[in-house]
Amino acid sequence: MNENVYLDHNATAPLRPEARLAIDQAMGIVGNGSSVHAGGRAARRIIEDARRVVAALCAAQPDTVTFTSGGTEANNLALGATAMSRVLISAVEHPSVYDVADRPEIIPVDRDGIVDLDALENMLASDNTPALVSVMAANNETGVIQPIERVAEVTRRYGGIVHCDGVQAVGKIPLDVNSLGVHMLTISGHKIGGPAGSGALINVDGLALSPLIRGGGQEKKLRPGTENLIGIAGFGAAAQVINDRGQAEIEKIRQWRDDLESAAKNRILGLEIVGQSAPRLPNTSALISPAIDSETQVMALDIDGVSISSGSACSSGKVGASPVMVAMGFNDSQARSVIRVSLGWSSRPDDTKRFLDVWCGLHDRLARQAS
Ligand code: PLP
Repeated sequence: MNENVYLDHNATAPLRPEARLAIDQAMGIVGNGSSVHAGGRAARRIIEDARRVVAALCAAQPDTVTFTSGGTEANNLALGATAMSRVLISAVEHPSVYDVADRPEIIPVDRDGIVDLDALENMLASDNTPALVSVMAANNETGVIQPIERVAEVTRRYGGIVHCDGVQAVGKIPLDVNSLGVHMLTISGHKIGGPAGSGALINVDGLALSPLIRGGGQEKKLRPGTENLIGIAGFGAAAQVINDRGQAEIEKIRQWRDDLESAAKNRILGLEIVGQSAPRLPNTSALISPAIDSETQVMALDIDGVSISSGSACSSGKVGASPVMVAMGFNDSQARSVIRVSLGWSSRPDDTKRFLDVWCGLHDRLARQAS
């Protein structure tokens, strides 16, 4: 019996053993991080240690890190916190940005999904109301990396504020808030092997931000409520692994991903690799094989113990045409047949071979049926 193969790290990564251990230890602590007794102080130590490690993940100062319940909350916080009346977002943002922004102006993207910087500049120049500009560091469906430094440079030139959703990029490519030039960065714990329900907003320049919820002094009043000690402990432990050996891990993954794409191109006629000519995350492949819809592919692979996503997997589990692909100019049938393969820390050398064997087997079967 074959072991299951998990190639859906962009949806969530399995919990790292180091995070599991940190969570287990944190669960043994009886104390509220705001209490002065020994248990409270032990909880506070865990929170502040994690804050330092999470800050180091993106070369930020620890006191700029606000822990949240995840990337979604951090994005909501960032978009609501500045009271900017004008919001510009790219056409390929995650729902936790595009569903939240109030009547956002959409920055178009090219066929690779990269924001059109001239369009951004024209939009900023067309109105002298300062804008909040939110562009993700890398796309969850395609892995395409945005030119954030340039987005930040243009936006700052027009007096705007830049927020970047770094949820998919963190741990996969170097993210340094100083060289990116952003005001705010969102990150999430469960994409790097920490627990779901943990994340952070990094307020690089110390902007005065308003909280989403009120009723306590925690996280400098920006995120009131007793801290999620267990989640923060696990997030910190996962971040520590990346600080220690993330680079070596990701280079191995890049090689497996590249080998997968070369082999797939040889075996599947007419295969298109989305964003192949653009800078991309080293772990992600968005693959369009014409004529088979993504749902059929995801289900057939699942039956054989291989977990992947359709490009458009959403929280309800329904599959439709991917809005990201549509924004990139793909037609409806292409947008409905894209699948996403995403590797990560738990990937093994033979995982991609197993995926290919099952996936190509499906293509062969369907081709025989059609002939
Ligand atoms: N932003 C991006 C780009 C994502 O891919 C995700 C999750 O898939 C989120 C934000 C939301 O993060 P979380 O699941 O931690 O709320």
